[in-house]
Amino acid sequence: MSLRGWIGTPIVAFHLLVLPASPSSLSAQLASAGGATPAPATLAVSYDELFDALLQMAPAPGGVATVSNLTLQRDAGRFTLQGGNVYLLSPVGGRTVAAVFRGKGVFSFAPPTAVEKDRLKRFEKADSLESPFTELVLFFADGTLSELEGAATFGPGPVPGDLRGVVRESLKFLSEEDNRTFEPDLMSAFLNGERSPLFYAHIKRSGGGPLMFMLNPYELEGVQLQGKAVRRAWDRRSEVITQFPVRGTNPGASVRRERLRQADVRRYVIESELLPTATGELGFKASATLEIVSDTAVGPWVVFQLFEKLKVDSARWVGGDKATVARGKESPLLWVQLDRQIQPGEVRTLQIWYHGDLIDRIVDFFLIKSSAAWYPRSLEGRSLAKFDLSFTTGAKYLLASVGERVDSSASGRTVRTRWVTPGPIRNASFNLGLFEAHEVVEKDVPPVTVLISEEAHKKIGRAGQQRNMRERVGADVSKSLKFFQEVYGPAPVRRFFATEIPGLHGEAFPGMVHLSWATFQNTSQEGYDEVFRAHEVAHQWWGIGVDFASYHDQWLSEGFSEFSGLWYLQTVRGNNKQYFELLRRGKTSVMLRREEPGPISLGYRVTRTKDDDVNDYHTLIYQKGAWVIHMLRILALDMKTMNEDRFKAIMQDFYAEYQGRRARTEDFRRVVERHIKADMGWFFDQFVYGAQIPTYRVAHRTEAAGNGQYKVRLRVRQEDVPDNFLMYVPVTLDLGKDRVARFRVKVAGPLTEIELPPVPAEPKKVMFNDLEGVLAEVKVGGWE
Ligand SMILES: [Zn+2]
Repeated sequence: MSLRGWIGTPIVAFHLLVLPASPSSLSAQLASAGGATPAPATLAVSYDELFDALLQMAPAPGGVATVSNLTLQRDAGRFTLQGGNVYLLSPVGGRTVAAVFRGKGVFSFAPPTAVEKDRLKRFEKADSLESPFTELVLFFADGTLSELEGAATFGPGPVPGDLRGVVRESLKFLSEEDNRTFEPDLMSAFLNGERSPLFYAHIKRSGGGPLMFMLNPYELEGVQLQGKAVRRAWDRRSEVITQFPVRGTNPGASVRRERLRQADVRRYVIESELLPTATGELGFKASATLEIVSDTAVGPWVVFQLFEKLKVDSARWVGGDKATVARGKESPLLWVQLDRQIQPGEVRTLQIWYHGDLIDRIVDFFLIKSSAAWYPRSLEGRSLAKFDLSFTTGAKYLLASVGERVDSSASGRTVRTRWVTPGPIRNASFNLGLFEAHEVVEKDVPPVTVLISEEAHKKIGRAGQQRNMRERVGADVSKSLKFFQEVYGPAPVRRFFATEIPGLHGEAFPGMVHLSWATFQNTSQEGYDEVFRAHEVAHQWWGIGVDFASYHDQWLSEGFSEFSGLWYLQTVRGNNKQYFELLRRGKTSVMLRREEPGPISLGYRVTRTKDDDVNDYHTLIYQKGAWVIHMLRILALDMKTMNEDRFKAIMQDFYAEYQGRRARTEDFRRVVERHIKADMGWFFDQFVYGAQIPTYRVAHRTEAAGNGQYKVRLRVRQEDVPDNFLMYVPVTLDLGKDRVARFRVKVAGPLTEIELPPVPAEPKKVMFNDLEGVLAEVKVGGWE
């Protein structure tokens, strides 16, 4: 995804995406994580009964105990109940799953890695916590109850009247009453009667806001600490202070997903109807057949995401039995009760009928309000599936979707088209409108169809509408496809659609991009639109062709695509000046955030929920991500000949090796090292896993060296980075008469003195950090 013009706009529409890890490694992972062991029997309670019981939980009069110096250790978190009372909460589904403590206690917590320590420091001003608390609410599917019962004697006792309010306060972070939604992993454990290491604590600190600690065996990074900025505990875009793998389960390279246990859908057959309603809007109704699978035993209750405005009408198992589904009004979650747990290798086929307010009409455009949750998808949302999609709509609309269009048939005033993906993909989408189709056919490039509504543009009627909008956009799409084929490898698609949407963003799907109407309306003078269009096209290679393993690696999609857009602008559009100008603008954004840096490897976690006008996600993952690739490009450049073959070989090799797979930053590093023939750990440590940006204070002086030769000496003071920071910096000497001498110098540590080899003329200019070789601030001063 990309935002046109780099304006502050919402980040990724939803948390994207996952290749199942090999079964053996995943089960090993689960075994070592103390994976859940579900209870065999299905509970006799319904979703609604359980939800109500959870929300009405209150201290039970018969379950009060006095405790002193009781310690609960949960991975990196330790709860010391120094003295006070523990009150068990009323049972849910027949078992005790929660308790509240009031008294004196301390929460101790220390993240295991430097990055996460640094993260904690940024939020809490300390790299470990020793926080006194007065109240603690615990929810658990683990052995907490036994631990409590082993340490204290529970019996009848007085319950303070305000304790119920304490429990309610903690439930606010876990549930939404209006749409009857509860944190899905806790809900799943309670609905399924599961015992697992799942543990959640709401900590009311003596000073400062509440903290939420979770030990979650469903997540690869199962230890999580959230702060008060959290709105919903399950919202992955919430501000997680720190998260990391459960101790002793450091994910091996084979696990390339973020969630460990979930129901997935391996194949969809969806029949959609998009027909006008009486009010002129476009109605949406669908029947979807889902082949539900899982690579670990889950259920019988399993959860999916579905766009909140869609209402489920009914659901049946293949064969005709009615299926039990649960979904609160406008909940983003859809719960399905299987007949029994689903085991690896098993398939359940569910057919579900649903409809709702998916599409808004804006002038003559149609806004599809959820580009990828318009069908039920796994909780992580990144699973791969095959799709067989049919759409019936009015004959006057043109529609594009993913995969191959295998059929199109008209019947009266409607047309039904069918689209089938040849292999599994991550996200399926479609777009339709009162479009005209503009075909672009270029040699050796998949044919491109631009779907555009010139009528809508006329109705908007704004000044400055460019001429030949379809040709201009179509040319960038086709030419960038061609360019990326040349530099990265063959396009993974046979034909390509570029469709217009009434938003200000772009989004990429296999064989299709959605592009903002604004990029059709006008093409900016600064090159933003060429970059924007090519960025979306580049996702066919980066993000779709080569997927990313986890959120830590998302820059391999967005940073790579952003760089690709710039490279296209420079190389195909021939605009060298704009390439560097746009890079420098990206640097300005990065520099504005220099005081509060976050490494690229934090992915979406750099987003700050409290500060909407600062889009750190875009600044770091897109713009700094593009800079990292640019720096590699300059590092790989042959300074004598300016030949770029080595850089191209890196990109081609990476694409060839990881196409159809999920890559980590470390995979890319190995490919880079293969071509650079040196350890590049320092480079990735500094620019991807680290966030420091150097300042170079540079002085130089030229001396005659006899025989008409000149020598340049450089003195570089390096600041704002650790002493071991190093980089190879391009230095260009302008020798006049269109002659230049180019060098690459190693700058490492606080002070570097360099003597360049003699040159045959007195340099007219010394350009330190030429070609923007390093993301750095350069200050040139006099020789002392
Ligand atoms: Zn993008």
